[in-house]
Formats: sequence, C-alpha cells, structure tokens
Amino acid sequence: EQYVYRFGGGVSEGKAGDKNRLGGKGANLAEMASIGLPVPPGFTISTAMCARYYEEGERFPDSLRAEVAAGIAHIEGVTGRRFGDAADPLLVSVRSGARVSMPGMMDTVLNLGLNDATVEGLAAASGDARFAWDSYRRFIQMYADVVLELDHGAFEEALEIAKEDRGYTLDTELSADDLRGLVAEYKQLVEQLWGRAFPQDVHDQLWGAVGAVFGSWQSDRAKVYRRLNHIPGDWGTAVNVQAMVFGNMGDTSATGVAFTRDPSTGERAYYGEFLINAQGEDVVAGIRTPQYLTRAARERAGAKPLSMEEALPAVYAELARVFDTLETHYRDMQDIEFTVQQGVLWMLQTRSGKRTAKAALKIAVDMAEEGLITREEAIARVDPSALDQLLHPTLDPAAARDVLTKGLPASPGAASGAAVFDADTAERWAADGRAVILLRTETSPEDIHGMHAAKGILTARGGMTSHAAVVARGMGRPCVSGAGALSIDARAKVARVGGRELREGDVLTIDGATGEVMAGEVATIQPELAGDFGTLMEWADTVRRLKVRANAETPADCRTARDFGAEGVGLCRTEHMFFESDRITAVRQMILASDERGRRAALDKLLPAQRADFTAIFQVMAGLPVTVRLLDPPLHEFLPHEEKEFAEVAQAAGVAVDVLRRRAAELHEFNPMLGHRGCRLGVTYPEIYETQAHAIFEAALDVAEKSGEAPIPEVMIPLVATKRELDLMKAVVDRAAEAVFAERGRRVEYLVGTMIELPRAALKAGEIAESGEFFSFGTNDLTQTTLGVSRDDAARFLGAYVEQGIYARDPFVSLDVEGVGELVALAAERGRATRPGIKLGICGEHGGDPASIAFCEQVGLDYVSASPYRVPIARLAAAQAAL
Ligand code: PEP
Ligand code: MG
Repeated sequence: EQYVYRFGGGVSEGKAGDKNRLGGKGANLAEMASIGLPVPPGFTISTAMCARYYEEGERFPDSLRAEVAAGIAHIEGVTGRRFGDAADPLLVSVRSGARVSMPGMMDTVLNLGLNDATVEGLAAASGDARFAWDSYRRFIQMYADVVLELDHGAFEEALEIAKEDRGYTLDTELSADDLRGLVAEYKQLVEQLWGRAFPQDVHDQLWGAVGAVFGSWQSDRAKVYRRLNHIPGDWGTAVNVQAMVFGNMGDTSATGVAFTRDPSTGERAYYGEFLINAQGEDVVAGIRTPQYLTRAARERAGAKPLSMEEALPAVYAELARVFDTLETHYRDMQDIEFTVQQGVLWMLQTRSGKRTAKAALKIAVDMAEEGLITREEAIARVDPSALDQLLHPTLDPAAARDVLTKGLPASPGAASGAAVFDADTAERWAADGRAVILLRTETSPEDIHGMHAAKGILTARGGMTSHAAVVARGMGRPCVSGAGALSIDARAKVARVGGRELREGDVLTIDGATGEVMAGEVATIQPELAGDFGTLMEWADTVRRLKVRANAETPADCRTARDFGAEGVGLCRTEHMFFESDRITAVRQMILASDERGRRAALDKLLPAQRADFTAIFQVMAGLPVTVRLLDPPLHEFLPHEEKEFAEVAQAAGVAVDVLRRRAAELHEFNPMLGHRGCRLGVTYPEIYETQAHAIFEAALDVAEKSGEAPIPEVMIPLVATKRELDLMKAVVDRAAEAVFAERGRRVEYLVGTMIELPRAALKAGEIAESGEFFSFGTNDLTQTTLGVSRDDAARFLGAYVEQGIYARDPFVSLDVEGVGELVALAAERGRATRPGIKLGICGEHGGDPASIAFCEQVGLDYVSASPYRVPIARLAAAQAAL
C-alpha cells in the first residue's frame, strides 16, 4: 500500500476528490498543483498511516522510511536544495490535515531542517543572518511546544527578557546576534526541561514532527472538537510535508489568509488579511492585528496601514487572478492561505470557506444566478441547521445602547449574557441555565468548550480570521473580536474599557454584525426572512416532496410557523393548554374528583377554555390540517410538587389539604413515563377525551361558520399499543363528533389516527391501520421505548455513549436510523399494506433534524413536523433529501 503522495514541480499524485486519503489540505494542494497554481513542492502521508500508526502502538512501519525518503528527494529535486545541507539547506513545514478542516485543532511545525550547521548555510544563502537566526529561534520554540510538549511559557519569557534587557518593544528589533544568543538560551531551556539536547539530526526532527501531528489527532482539544462536530475518531489525519516559503524575508515578503467572497455577509468581494514580513501562523494566531487585503476594505474601516492592494500591487493582482481561477475551478467560495516570498506568490492552502448562514445563502443564490452552479446545487450548498442563526432575533435598532467599545464584527448575531473570563466557568454557568458571554484576550483551541457553552464571544485581540472568529462563525455564535480598547485581566476576572469595568457576572451585549459591545441587555427584534432566504426557500419548495408541518399549541406559535411556511400543525399537545393559569384549577378539580360526576363537573368548566384555544388555532391555520393530540401526560404532573404550594392549591380547588396530599400520593408512580398516561387515561377516564373531542369539533364548526374555510382536524390518540385501545378511543371521538354535528346541523371533515410511539404499535401497525386513519411517529417516545433509555435521564450517560461510538449521535436529536428507523419503516410498510395511502408523519423532535428528515424521505412519509423555528430548516432539508 502506498502511503506517500507527492505534489508540486509538475507532479500531482492526488486530486481534490481524495480528501479521505490525503486529508483536505493535501488533496487541495495536489489539485492546485495540477491546475498550474504556484504550490511549494511537497508530499502527503495519507490518513491510512495515522490509523496504522495507532494500531502499531504509535510507531511507524519500516516501509514508510523509504517512501518518505523518496518524498524528500522529490522536494529536493524541485527546489534544488538538500535537506540538512550545511551550505544551502532545504527547510520544510509539517502540517496536519484531516478530511474536514478542524481549525487550529492540530499541530504544525515550521522551519524544520534547521540546526547549528544549517542555520549558517541559510544565513549565507539568503544573505540575511537575522532572518536565519529568527527562523531557527522560531523553529526551536515551535518544536519544543508541539513535538517535545515543553512549557511554552518558558520560551516566551526568555524572548520577553531578551527584549527587555535591550530596551526593545518589538520582536523585529532583535538583531542577528541577539537572536543567536536567544537560540543558545532556547537550546539550554530544551536541555533543562526535556533532559536531552535539541535534536540536531534533521531526519530525527522530521520523524518527531510527523509523530507529533499524528499524536495531535488524539489530543483533548481535537477530541472535543470532533465530538461537537460529529467527526468520527477513526478518520485520522494526514501529514503534509512541504518546502518552506518565507513571508518573513523583508518588506516584499508577506503572509496572509483570504476568502474569495466575504464569509460574513457573502458579498462578492475579495476579503482577507495579511502581514508584511511575517510567518504564516502570525496571522491565524491573532498575535499582531493584520492589515486589510483590499483598498476598499481598508477605507471602509478607516484603517491606516496600507492594504495589500496598495502595498504590493503586482502580487495582489496575481493573487486576484488566482482567486478567480480557484472559484471557477472549485465552483465555491474558497478560503486561502498564501505567502509572498520576496515578491513571489505561493499558495499554501485552499478549501471551501466556512461562512455564516447569511453568507451561505447569499453565495449559493448569487452563484446560481451567476450560472456558476445550478439551483439544485445551491439548495444542496446550504447547511439547513445553519439557518438557525438567521431565524433568531437581532438587536432592535431602536433600542438604547450603552456602547462600551467597538471591535470587529467577526460573527453575526446578537447576544446578551453575564461576563465570564474563562471557558470552564462559561461551561459551568451555562449548564446552570445562565446566558454567558465569554471574554478573552484571545481564544485558543483550549477554549472551545467554553465558546460552545457561551451565547457570544468577545476578544480584545485578533482579526477577522483569528481563532475566535473562525470558530465562532463555524459554531454560529455571535463574536466580536479585536476590541483593542478593552483590557482583560482574566486572573482578576475584570475587563476595563474607557474608565469603566466589567466584572464576572455583569451583563453585557455584543452585536456581531457591527462589532459593538454594550453594557447591560439590549432589546431584540424578529428577523427579516426576505431576500436570499426567501429565494432559496422558494427553490427548495419546488424540489421537495415531503410536506412540512409544525409542532405548535398556541396561536402565536401557529402564526410563527405559518410565517415560516408550515403547511399545517403536526402536533398540538393539548396538555400545555391545561397549565394556563385560568384553567389549572379546573384541571386539578378534575383530578381530585372522586367519581365520574365530579370529573364531568370539572371538565364542563374546562370545555369553553379548550374550545377557545382550538378556535384561535384553527383560525390561524384555516384551510390547513391540524393534528390535535388528546391528553398524554400522567395526571400527577398537574398537581403541585412543593409542600409550600399545597395549601394554596387545595384552597383554590376547594378541597382539604390532606385530600390533595393523599391524592397526590395515590398518583405517585415509580415510572410515570410507562405509567398511567396516554390513551390509558382515555381508557380509564373516557370523559376526558370526550370533552376534548367536543371542544375540537365545536371549535372547528365555529371557524367553518365564521370564515367559511373549515380546518381539517386530525384527532390523535397517544401511546397506543393495541388496536383495541384505538378502537375504544376512536368510538369516543366519533360519538362526540356525531353529537356536535347533530346539534349544529353541520359537519366538518376529520380524521382519527394514532401516534406510533411504542414498539408494539409499530409491529402491529397492519392491524392498527384497520382503525387508524393516519399514523404520526412519536419518535421521542419511540426512541425511549425502543432503546429502553429514559428521555429525561439520558443526559447523564449519552455523552459517553456518543464519545465511544455506541451511537453516532444523540438518538433523541438525530434518529437512530438503524434501530428506531427500522421500526418506523416496518410500521409504514405494514400500515400501507392494510390501508393504502394512509397518511404518515413524524412529530418527534427528529422531525426538525436534517439527517432524520432524509430518512423520512427515504421511507416515503407524507410530512415531517418540527418546532416553528425549525420549519425553514425542515423545508430545506426536505428539499435536499429529495435531490
Ligand atoms: C413523541 O413521543 O415523539 C411525541 C411527539 O410526543 P411527546 O414528545 O409529547 O411525548
Ligand atoms: Mg410521546
């Protein structure tokens, strides 16, 4: 098996499609080389070697030595330099590159190949001793950190002291001799901390770095990132070894990152940042605040330092040509890393650029309209889940803002929350249900879990492509970066700006669209869903087969759902209406009644309220189907749980406190989820379902009479396991319907169906379909009952289950297609065999999850039902599933 693949210098042993084998970076380097773009020569060690490396106890097979030697020979041949040559040495970079990009998660070593002899050769060959010693200094520092895993603080301290001793403020003030001295110190530090001398053999250096890159695949931060992004642990990373090019060789050298379109807004304009006389990682790490790429962007920001377009016009023009070549070639917005070495442009990376949801929409719609991609491709390009970012409120422009300072608008959206200064606190407070904003001087990959837990991220340093900005955009978290006026003291947990202070817990608001940072909470408004969003949704609607409904039980939710394009209500959970303050007492009286007469008396009080609820919902959903589920939860949920509430509740219900207490104790169940709930309530107290049915049909007739447009009620019986249960409950509903129709002298169309949320119901679906006119898969309960995992207790162990690959994703979020899905498919098939054309839908949370929606398309359900804010996500996912 071949493990090493070469590229550059007219050779290309891979292509963009080889990401699984070569990783994203390696595959695209090969692709760029093959279309004639300037790529420094190099080779990629495949991801398969990563797996083998771990299989063999973190060792390399002997066969790899020869392959790597051939790879080095390839680079030597193209560059005309030799690795380890004391006169004119070849230096290489060693970088990770997984199948999908994991920004900042894994390791990189630059300037590899320097030692006490080659540094002199580099100085002589480049004619720049300062450059050579600075490169050696950087190499030791990076190697010590990444490969030897020594405390990097010690090296930074030595650098600071070297500057202080000489009265310098900038690294660039250090002379060649200063740096030579610093290198000696660094080597001593390595001996002290590592117990051995810094490796002088360039081949030892190389193997150390390759091992470190493979090792970084199993680092804690990489594991966290994979968990958050659902990246399998067995994919592994590739290693790219490539000839170094230097952006730190004076004022005609530079390094930068760029996007072919604005990743924040999607605007068709080159977008990026660069630093003159700097090396790659300086831009990404956010250590120096970089300069703009284009003049227009610089002028818009009112920034002084010249843009690349102005400072290096010829190379900029070439770069712009490369951008166009790449966009036409990849037919997507690209995210690029480049280096300019003494006026010559080199491409170090390209990949599809991460973008905000807003940018994704705009770019997809624009590219389709530019004719670069088809409409179907545009639909496929937008991640449905990312739409979530757009469907949520933004700051009300009319609200007062107490602006503290302004940074860069790094990731859009608005967020308010309590200030926290470290990732662990962010995670802890968020777990307690608090909204937090994470404040950091700059973020690093160690902060990922805190960024994820936070509602928003604010940094004092770093540009639009800093770690904080890239990660926040990827996660859909609002972020303001580089708020330079802000001084953050993480140890003292305080941030200072313009004479004011923010302490831990103080509430602030950030606006990721403008970069503003405000004290206190600022009011928000609902999003506008026109423009590109509307266009893409229209395109999606022409493609999808699945209908999309909403789970909604208030007129307001129904309105939102309809505005978002819902084509009906797939689940109206009536119990939520029972908790409203004007009826909870009647509900409790019903529960506390000792006989049917007492229950009916209480239910009679409930009836008008229920009827009003349904009337309001039917009005909003006029002309569309509304699935109303009869009462589902165990009755004790409606009784008070805290001792202090008992007296008040008893008084309101007109019973003695000990009667209430006794009844509450009677209703106690060991396992209420499997207890007296669902249709079991209807079987034991049919008058409850009867009353609900009355309310439904009366409301339907009211709306039909008033608006002329009759709703189509679909009455749904929960937690059915047997046909007999459904028969009994259907008889109750039909009787109520006939009674109402007779009384009013008018009928409406309606259906009676059942939820499929127990394995027995799925298995007996053929029989159940004899009575059931529709099925709605209640996959929340079906998951719970199929897996035997309590949906309310799963959080304690499901994380570990997902981490260990027992389930690929949380099965309550994304359908367990293999298990629960098999029951769904089987029930659909058996139901259809009995009743061809039986209406089939899904109303568990999975109805809003794109992967689950793809499955629903596959088994041919008629509709999915999602929470109102997820309706657009479901529309897009349904379209993608149909492509
Ligand atoms: C379900 O079980 O999937 C369902 C939709 O019902 P609920 O979540 O109300 O139990
Ligand atoms: Mg259920």
